[in-house]
Amino acid sequence: MSSAAHYLDLGYHDVVIIEKEWHEESSGYQNEHTHHVVACRDRSGAIWKVTVNWAFKTMKGTNEPHVEARVAISEAEYAAFLAKHGPVLDNATFHAKRKRASDAKAQLEALKPPCPECNRPMQARLGRGKEYFWGCIGFPKCKGTRTMTATTRKRIGALESARH
Ligand SMILES: [Zn+2]
Repeated sequence: MSSAAHYLDLGYHDVVIIEKEWHEESSGYQNEHTHHVVACRDRSGAIWKVTVNWAFKTMKGTNEPHVEARVAISEAEYAAFLAKHGPVLDNATFHAKRKRASDAKAQLEALKPPCPECNRPMQARLGRGKEYFWGCIGFPKCKGTRTMTATTRKRIGALESARH
């Protein structure tokens, strides 16, 4: 349950997985642990061998890293790990996915009309009929709404799914 994206969050990239061990907790909460030993680079370009225990909390839906050990390694050691355990977890895919998500967020922001009552920005909200409409960010104080065209609804649906 750990991906390149999680390592990017930790500040590492070019991740090579050297060891991987997965087990489920028997506590009844069905939490999963993934024990990783990886070789990776940090933002400054330094190379490390890092031991991480990823705790996936089923109830919370979070994947929490606990870095257990970290030692500096040389380019030669990194190259040897890469040759033996490669390929590198694909950073490019995750960077591209992240960029799409942030572009979608910016486009969603740009679509927001002003509230007809108080002029504040409006938010796309799902109505009872599962159709989007515009609602004021000041709700429930401000009850301003606007209807949304079918085209905009479709666009928002697509942008919302690109965000995740
Ligand atoms: Zn308003």
